[in-house]
Amino acid sequence: MDPGNEKGFQLQRRGNLAYLQAPLLAGCGPVVHAFSTRAGGCSGGAMASLNTAFHTGDRYRRVWENRRRFLKPWGFHPEEVVAAIQVHGTGIFRVKASDRGRGSRTGNFLGEGDALITAAPGILLTGYAADCLLLFIVAPDVPAVALAHAGRQGTLQNMAGAVVSELNSSFGADPAAMRVALGPGICGRCYTVGPGPARDFEEAGWPGKPYLWAGEGGVFHLDLAAINRQQLSRAGIRPGQVAGGSWCTSCRPDLFYSYRRDRGKTGRMMGLIALEQGEEG
Ligand SMILES: [Zn+2]
Repeated sequence: MDPGNEKGFQLQRRGNLAYLQAPLLAGCGPVVHAFSTRAGGCSGGAMASLNTAFHTGDRYRRVWENRRRFLKPWGFHPEEVVAAIQVHGTGIFRVKASDRGRGSRTGNFLGEGDALITAAPGILLTGYAADCLLLFIVAPDVPAVALAHAGRQGTLQNMAGAVVSELNSSFGADPAAMRVALGPGICGRCYTVGPGPARDFEEAGWPGKPYLWAGEGGVFHLDLAAINRQQLSRAGIRPGQVAGGSWCTSCRPDLFYSYRRDRGKTGRMMGLIALEQGEEG
């Protein structure tokens, strides 16, 4: 249970797999979405066990097998993965049906960017995180879906607002109809930054609680989920149409990798979202 957040991500189990899904998104049309945990994979050591990202130093074949296991319940195969090389920016790819599989191997990514949007059914958008937030967005009026990666840099640059705006300009999606679930990320109690980044956020208009506050020893606590919720509200997403963001990757080593907690040597969880393939497709 996502505490106090009954529409946010809930833990589910299926055989050895454990994954999360958000009731807010499950109830709004022909959309498949999920967020992996570290359970049910074949990787060992710091990557144990369901590491889904190639760039972690894990063995290629193990990542492939982990992806195969996680994707299978949703009817997808690793060959179909669409992904960008995440660079902590606000670059957004509009993904076409012909992009299927771009991101399935190390050499065929879409390019550098941090958000994917599509209105094409059956196209598997994926994102990778271990502390950074993934934003799962459904625009039921198009329909279209989006998956955005927002860590410290992406949040500072308002990735949330950028992707909502892109869904509107590309597909005519109405922000008032959109639903957004925030994936597990590092919480404001666990996440501390130095004075430089703290100043950046203060100057960007995020002073004080619940966004930024001074901790012990000259550090500052930063709550990325709180800032993203406010950015989504300013972008026109209605209250009650945003859920999640309360699972902490650092607080739960049993479920999640955490880049900060594990000092960089760790795996990544995968978020996926897709429009279901219609009968005719
Ligand atoms: Zn925490």
